[in-house]
Amino acid sequence: MKILEKRPENLHALVTEKSAENQSFRNFIHALPSKQIDFTLDVIIPEVEKNIDCTQCGNCCRQLQPGLSEEEISGLSSIKNINVEDFKNQFTAREKGTMIQYMTARPCVFLNQNICSIYESRPHSCKDFPYIDESRIKMYWKRVMEYYKICPIVFNTIELLKKEVGFNFYFT
Ligand code: SF4
Ligand code: SF4
Repeated sequence: MKILEKRPENLHALVTEKSAENQSFRNFIHALPSKQIDFTLDVIIPEVEKNIDCTQCGNCCRQLQPGLSEEEISGLSSIKNINVEDFKNQFTAREKGTMIQYMTARPCVFLNQNICSIYESRPHSCKDFPYIDESRIKMYWKRVMEYYKICPIVFNTIELLKKEVGFNFYFT
């Protein structure tokens, strides 16, 4: 399995180049059985993750604003050694019209070079990233494409998925 791109700084140009192709892939993937996509992702994702070292990247921690539960805010304010209200005021915001809270700083205040300084205590939304599975690909394509622009794991997973399900043959 050949990894195509490991450097997040190169993704932007590739995304522009592949814009029409990705639009077409979106339609193609919708016509495929969910089980086939799931089965293929189960093979691809571990291989991609094995070949990409997140400690050499850290781009999600520079670009994204992870969601936080109230409990996580409390834990992170203890780590920062400040009270919860001060932590909220300095480091978080609430999504308009919702109860969703998220960290505002980009890069994240807990990022040290490419490494999370609170790795064991990082929020669930960080642990779960890059959230890639069949239902997200089908239902939240726009969001998957946002992650495809910044995360080499997502980029390579989508590119290998195209190959494994025969899209490259269809598209060229
Ligand atoms: S808490 Fe850690 S894993 Fe989450 S965005 Fe910040 S540095 Fe990255
Ligand atoms: S999850 Fe993606 S963006 Fe984040 S560090 Fe790993 S390869 Fe980079």
